[in-house]
Amino acid sequence: MKVALAALGGGPGDEVITQGFTFVATWEAILDIGAIPVFTEIDETLNMDPADLKKKITDKTRCIIPVHMLGAMARIEEIVAIAATHDIPVLEDTAQAAGATINGRYLGTFGNCGTFSFDSVKTMTTGEGGMIITSDQDMWKTMSEYHDHGHDHIVNPGGRGGEGRRFLGFNYRMMELQGAMGIAQLSKLDSMIVSQKSNKKRLRDAAAGIPGVTFRTLVDAEGDTATFFAFILPTKEQCQAVNVALGENGAGAINFSENSWHFYPSWEHLHKGSTVAASGWPFAEPGGKRRVVYDPEGLPKSADIMARTLVYPVSINMTEEQLATICSALKKAAQVV
Ligand SMILES: *Cc1c(COP(=O)(O)O)cnc(C)c1O
Repeated sequence: MKVALAALGGGPGDEVITQGFTFVATWEAILDIGAIPVFTEIDETLNMDPADLKKKITDKTRCIIPVHMLGAMARIEEIVAIAATHDIPVLEDTAQAAGATINGRYLGTFGNCGTFSFDSVKTMTTGEGGMIITSDQDMWKTMSEYHDHGHDHIVNPGGRGGEGRRFLGFNYRMMELQGAMGIAQLSKLDSMIVSQKSNKKRLRDAAAGIPGVTFRTLVDAEGDTATFFAFILPTKEQCQAVNVALGENGAGAINFSENSWHFYPSWEHLHKGSTVAASGWPFAEPGGKRRVVYDPEGLPKSADIMARTLVYPVSINMTEEQLATICSALKKAAQVV
């Protein structure tokens, strides 16, 4: 993500818009290039709320990063259309949604580029590392060179060290061995999604009996990767009661409004401006003046949705026993609402 932001020319003085429900990696990259993250609300897609995005665009906005959280799509076509009216590039954080589609078109191909993570908890993994895809030839060339210390990637007669350089770069390469693993993983992606979908359907059918329950909005249910199952209760109190009952029956769910790595109010290092840099950068300028201060209560709509949402991770490796435990807990929890 940092490589993509750098290639888009981002740096100090810029704002980059993303959503308040994401993994910290998204905004770490923004701060790392010296830009300021601006957070939007989410809606019931659990991803960027396009209406709030419109309010947060300024003449400093360098890039918009919708995140396809929990295996499924943001309202990416709407977001790309809004960005286009302002001529702002869109970078899709597709780390959690490799293989997801809208009307058959893969996420990561709607914006100017899409970034993927292959760390060990992602659907596809190479141990560590990631990938950026783009159909913009110039951006590809810039990213390719930047992530490789700036070596220009033109055929050169001098071999290693003989290349020229167009700009300052850094090393973000992953190993060829990891690339080989990634290719092998890619060949399994479709079958992983098929079995995740069938596991998710069982959980959804069991949860459907909870009075008042609704499900996360899926822009295209066919294109969901089903790596997570998210269901939403009418009130925070009902959500808590259901999760207590689920826990008592051996199947507590994740509530991302509880202290987590993924939700804005929990990011105390963002709110406090904690950094290892003695100068306080990137939260403070050299000299100590704060560049940005965030209000932990600044995303009330997201906080409301998150407080009412429960999530189960879904994987291809779920055993019959695990599925049965969760389904039976969901049926029992239906009685407490
Ligand atoms: C995993 C993840 C990333 C990237 O994480 P790395 O550890 O850098 O691979 C980025 N965004 C989201 C939403 C993620 O879940």
